[in-house]
Amino acid sequence: MNIELLARTEIRDLKPYETARQAHGMVRLNANEAPWPADGSSADGLNRYPEIRPLQLHTRLAAHYAVDPGMVLATRGSSEAIDLLMRAFCHAGTDNIIVSPPTFSMYRVYADIQGAGTITAPLLADNNFALDVSLVLEKCTPKTKLVFVCSPNNPTGGLVPLSSIRELAEARVDRSLIIVDEAYAEYSEVPSAATLLAQYENIVVLRTLSKAHSLAGARCGAVLASENLIHLLNRILPPYALATPVIDCVLRSLAPETLQRSNDAVRRVLEERERISRELLQCPDVVKVWPSRSNFLLVQFRNLLSVESRLSDAGILIRQFRDEAALRNCARISIGKPRENDLLLAALSRTLEGA
Ligand code: PMP
Repeated sequence: MNIELLARTEIRDLKPYETARQAHGMVRLNANEAPWPADGSSADGLNRYPEIRPLQLHTRLAAHYAVDPGMVLATRGSSEAIDLLMRAFCHAGTDNIIVSPPTFSMYRVYADIQGAGTITAPLLADNNFALDVSLVLEKCTPKTKLVFVCSPNNPTGGLVPLSSIRELAEARVDRSLIIVDEAYAEYSEVPSAATLLAQYENIVVLRTLSKAHSLAGARCGAVLASENLIHLLNRILPPYALATPVIDCVLRSLAPETLQRSNDAVRRVLEERERISRELLQCPDVVKVWPSRSNFLLVQFRNLLSVESRLSDAGILIRQFRDEAALRNCARISIGKPRENDLLLAALSRTLEGA
């Protein structure tokens, strides 16, 4: 498959910005940097630009996600990866993307910013919000460049089986990229769609350090895809995109002892998720708790407005989706620390007493 042919012509023909050369051990008088660090130390630090593309970080991310080093691009959160894909592949005013709501709304926002259309193929509300693969394929047009599949899906928590991703990739070969957003993959305990990359050049996997690695404040994500696609996105990602402190802190988070801590935290979240889910189901104010493979629960209440105001009085925020008809009276509740989750359950039982 020729990724270049799918891309916007402007991006295909783009002559990227030529950065100042960075060679180890050379006197750097070529980048208009300040010669002394602001903290008064003698060694170079933040007075220097970061690596244009941090090599060690890419190597470590590739090993962590079990792909070849040329198949990774680190971005400022996976949000930036969504934006890069939109800008690289969607011609404004003509091309479109497919999304399956209820899902992460940033796909549509970035499409709107780029001037691309958004076509919806809703999840199956009567089947725990499963992906409707045939509907997605029916809704594709000759101008569909990106098909977004979020697994586990935000905010419903459901998984899309790899067989469905395969089916989409095969049906749309040479025509669309299948973007598998795996922001919450570590909580799902199933194999990543990255295992399909060797077979399908039109699959793109998005990962993030924001969730299971506890680094939302660092803003780091990763695109996993064919070398050709990574090469193309690499051309439009700004130089020096990742700040030096971010590179350092992500590298530390990928060290074996920190990874062990992240795995333990994921396990605690999963235990809490099962406990909260069970306890919520005992609550007469709760209509439904969807099975979740993520770090949140989608919950339908009898009267969300009253629940929300009681929770707000107790100092607890949950996420509602006012514009989403399929999610009437539903809220997404992130799994917190056990003490925070207890506060939630206590506030919900007060809701009942007060009702
Ligand atoms: N994808 C999904 C499904 C998300 O829920 C989020 C954030 N909530 C993101 C991507 C973006 O995450 P980040 O930019 O922090 O990597």
